[in-house]
Amino acid sequence: MKTIVKKQKMGMIDNVMHQFNQAADLMQLNSSIRKILSAPNSEITVNFPVKLDDGSVEVFKGYRVQHNNALGPYKGGLRYHESVDIDSARALAMWMTWKTSLAGLPYGGGKGGVQLDPKKYSNAELERITRRFTYALGDNIGPEHDIPAPDVNTTPQMMAWIADTYMSTKSTNERTKHAHVVTGKPVGAGGLEGRDRATGYGVVVALKAWANHHSISLSGKRFIIQGFGNVGFWASNFLTEEGAILIGVQDASGSIYNEQGIDPSQLLNFSKSNGGFITGFSESNQIPNDLFFSLNCEILVPAALGNQITLENVHEIQAQVIAEGANGPIDAEANDFLVGKGIDIIPDIYCNSGGVIASYFEWLQNRNGEIWSLEEVLSKLEIKMTTSFGKILKTAKAHNTDWRTAAYIEAISRVEQAYLQRGIFP
Ligand code: GLU
Repeated sequence: MKTIVKKQKMGMIDNVMHQFNQAADLMQLNSSIRKILSAPNSEITVNFPVKLDDGSVEVFKGYRVQHNNALGPYKGGLRYHESVDIDSARALAMWMTWKTSLAGLPYGGGKGGVQLDPKKYSNAELERITRRFTYALGDNIGPEHDIPAPDVNTTPQMMAWIADTYMSTKSTNERTKHAHVVTGKPVGAGGLEGRDRATGYGVVVALKAWANHHSISLSGKRFIIQGFGNVGFWASNFLTEEGAILIGVQDASGSIYNEQGIDPSQLLNFSKSNGGFITGFSESNQIPNDLFFSLNCEILVPAALGNQITLENVHEIQAQVIAEGANGPIDAEANDFLVGKGIDIIPDIYCNSGGVIASYFEWLQNRNGEIWSLEEVLSKLEIKMTTSFGKILKTAKAHNTDWRTAAYIEAISRVEQAYLQRGIFP
C-alpha cells in the first residue's frame, strides 16, 4: 500500500519559485526587486548536541531561513519533521513572505525547524531539544527581528519552552519584554485565546467566502481531509459546524472512510489514544490510500505536508474545490491540470493564513500588555480573511488569472512598493 502522506518536499522550492515567477511575469515585477525576492536574505544552520534520556548524546540539525523583512520582522513556524532541510526551509520561508504580505501584516517571512521524528523522543528529550535549539539560534530570533511559531509537529508547550529559554538569556529587568519572541504559546504563558484553532478556522472562513462567491451553502457538502493534526482537526470541526459532512480522512497511518459522516471530536479522542494515528477508528472503514483522492466529495482539504497532489494522483480528484490547509500541497504540474479542469483552488498563502494572522494578534497582545477574548480574535480573523478573499477575486479578474497567481500579485505588490519607496541601501 502506498503511504501518500509520508512522501513530500521533493521540489518544494521549485514549486514556490514557479508560482513566484508566474506572478512576477504577469505583473511585470520590477527586475531588481525580482532578483532580491528570488533568494532568502539569510540562512542559519545549527548543529547542536542534546543529552538523551539514556545518557547518550545526539547532535541535531536545525534551520532558520529568513526570506524577506521589507515589511517587518521575519515571521513563520518551526517544524519538527524528518523532511526538514535547507531546501524545504527556503521554500516555506518564501511562502511566509507572501502569506504575511497578502494578509496585510507588518511582517516578512521566515521558516525553520529541526530534522527529526518527534515520535521517537520522550517529552523530556523534546524539551531539551527545543531549549537547546533556541539557545543555538541565539539572537537570530527576537521579538522585533524574527518571531517563530508552531508548525508541523510543534506545539504550544514547545513555544513556551522557546519563550522561557530566550527570556532566560536576557538580563533580569529586560526579560519580560521578550515574551513576544514567539507566538502560539499556551494561554497561561502569554498565548492568545483561539490561536490553537485559528488556522483551521481560517480554512473554513475561506471556504465560506468561496461558497458565498458561488451563492451556495456549505451545509450538506461532503469533504475529505488529508492530515489530522491541528489544522486538519479544527478545519473538520468548524466545517461540520457549518453542516458539511466529513466522509474521509488520511494520515501517515492510512485512510479511513464513512459515507454517513465521521465525527471529528470522536476521531480526535481515538487518535490521541492510538499514538496520534487515525486508522482503527471503529466508526469508519479503512480504505487503501490509493482510493483516498477518488472519494466522491465536493471539498478536499489537504492539511498535511507539501507536494501531496502530483501528476500521479491529480486525475483522481472528484472535489469541486481544494482548500489548501497545508503549505504547498499541490505541485506545479498538478496545479496547472486542476486550473485547466476548472477546479477551484483556494491557495495556501491565503487559505491557511488564519494561523499567522492570530499570531499577529498574540504578538500585539504581548507587546501592548492586553488580553483579547476568543470572540474578538475569531471575529477579527474572519474580517481580515474575508477582505483578502475579495482582493484576490478582484485581482484575478483584473489580470484574467487564477486565484493563486492573483494572491501572489497582491502579496508581491506590497513588498515591491516597500522597496520602491525606500530604495536600496546604500
Ligand atoms: N506555521 C504557520 C504557517 O505556516 C503559522 C506561522 C506563524 O504563526 O507565524 O503559516
